[in-house]
Amino acid sequence: MLESARHVRPIYLPYKPSEALSEVIRGSGYDPALISVEDLQRIANRLSAVVKREPAWGWRYLRNVLNGKMEASKKLADAVMRLGALIDGTPDLPATAERVSVLASGKVRPGALVLANSQSCANPGCGIEFVPRTPNQRFHSAACYRIWRKSHAK
Ligand SMILES: [Zn+2]
Repeated sequence: MLESARHVRPIYLPYKPSEALSEVIRGSGYDPALISVEDLQRIANRLSAVVKREPAWGWRYLRNVLNGKMEASKKLADAVMRLGALIDGTPDLPATAERVSVLASGKVRPGALVLANSQSCANPGCGIEFVPRTPNQRFHSAACYRIWRKSHAK
């Protein structure tokens, strides 16, 4: 069992849009009362994507709907229902996925599913294990390539 903070579970959508929105947020693995601005904006972006709304809704609008300060528009209510249905049909993480600790220099969000394999840098003096950007990348940095090339020059 993965100790994932974002564990997707089946959701039941109530008729009231604000409650349905809470369920969609819970179904995405967050607590609607504690969700961060950044994560709420990610939910807003996903909701906007399912109804092709541009620009995307802002997190403040979602927060106001959650707090009952604003009514959800018909379009938002529609997006909540559609995203809820998509979440319900989404399979869980692959059984082969395992939680490891990584150092990310690229944009890797906490808990991200990394599908590529890591490999050792081809500079024997380096010892760094990295996930390559391209399939044929052998060195973790240009500096390691230069060191390796120098050592192989006559
Ligand atoms: Zn290296």
